Amino acid sequence: MQFSLAALPGDGIGPEVTAEAVKVLQAVGSRFGHAFNLHYGLVGGAAIDEAGTAFSNDTLKMCQGCDAVLLGAVGGPKWDDPQAKVHPEDGLLALRKGLGLFANLRPVRVSPVLINATNLKPEVIRGVDFIFVRELTGGLYFGRPKRQWRTSRGRRAIDSMAYSEQEIERIVRVGFEIARGRGKKLVSVDKANVLESSRLWRQVAIEVAGEYPDVELEHMLVDACAMRLIQNPAYFDVIVTENTFGDILTDEASMLAGSMGMLASASLAGVPREGVNIFGLYEPIHGSAPRRAGLNMANPLAIILSIAMMLRYSFGLIKEAQTVESAVDEVLEEGYRTYDIMSEGKLKVGTREMGDLIVKKVWARK
Ligand code: NAD
Repeated sequence: MQFSLAALPGDGIGPEVTAEAVKVLQAVGSRFGHAFNLHYGLVGGAAIDEAGTAFSNDTLKMCQGCDAVLLGAVGGPKWDDPQAKVHPEDGLLALRKGLGLFANLRPVRVSPVLINATNLKPEVIRGVDFIFVRELTGGLYFGRPKRQWRTSRGRRAIDSMAYSEQEIERIVRVGFEIARGRGKKLVSVDKANVLESSRLWRQVAIEVAGEYPDVELEHMLVDACAMRLIQNPAYFDVIVTENTFGDILTDEASMLAGSMGMLASASLAGVPREGVNIFGLYEPIHGSAPRRAGLNMANPLAIILSIAMMLRYSFGLIKEAQTVESAVDEVLEEGYRTYDIMSEGKLKVGTREMGDLIVKKVWARK
């Protein structure tokens, strides 16, 4: 099969880890007989240096013409001046908006061989394997009114947590579809005891649940969810929630897996259903780690696992996705580690060597 892919390596360690992900994707292509046609573009600081904007219309058009987008990371001290007119992160927002990406998926899986890499006790995180589905385009960050003003009694500010039933329905549906393909357990997170937007969220979730009798739906208050994620994270299969709650809870959840260098993410423009390929943007959850850039140190596994998500959701290549995921597991089981997940007695490797090890495993796959 043939697929086209926009690659936006970005800044810092972005280009290094993106190169390893592309290497792995090309190995999958050769091994399984697919062609992945790559188109490179600039985003973030690299785009500011080149064109004065963090993300151009031409790059947006290029991305829109592809089946999926792969993003490295953006940002760095060079572009940090708060007075600057344009910031690298502006590119990310423009990209997400321009591509209509509303569903952010973050799998959190604790590899048994990295069980000692986190701050939590092994007995708490053993068996953790869930997916977070976060709404990306609504809620507090975008709702109107949103402003700050002066009154005779001092300054005031307002943000609005606003949601329409259509926005809730499509994201809850993403949660149900993903749960249907996994453990069939969906936790919908809200604050329905206090917030009106959460009451609507809960009503819509219950309505959509009627179409998914095979999936068990549970409602959980956001404060209870924050607690449960630390107390018993293995409890979860799929979690769906709105933008702000998701922003906070996904960062909390990422700590369960130990290193930022291990966690992948996808942002989708549609509801993933069996047999349907959805346009999406795939990126590691980490940033550009400027201090590690150019040193062949960065862990490329997060972006390589993002490639597995791309194969699954945008290309419908499930066997190929599993091949990449198994390759990562096997290389870790054999004891290879980048610096961030290194422990005593293991074999330390650099970014490129880690990429080569994964490629070798892809080729060795039966
Ligand atoms: P960061 O994720 O870049 O780094 C946090 C810590 O994790 C650092 O110690 C870093 O060395 C380490 N780390 C991150 N990725 C790693 C990897 N693949 N392998 C090994 N170690 C890794 O976050 P930060 O330091 O807060 O931000 C650095 C820059 O990245 C900032 O400019 C920030 O705005 C930007 N940022 C971009 C994104 C994005 O592109 N989506 C996300 C977060 C931060």
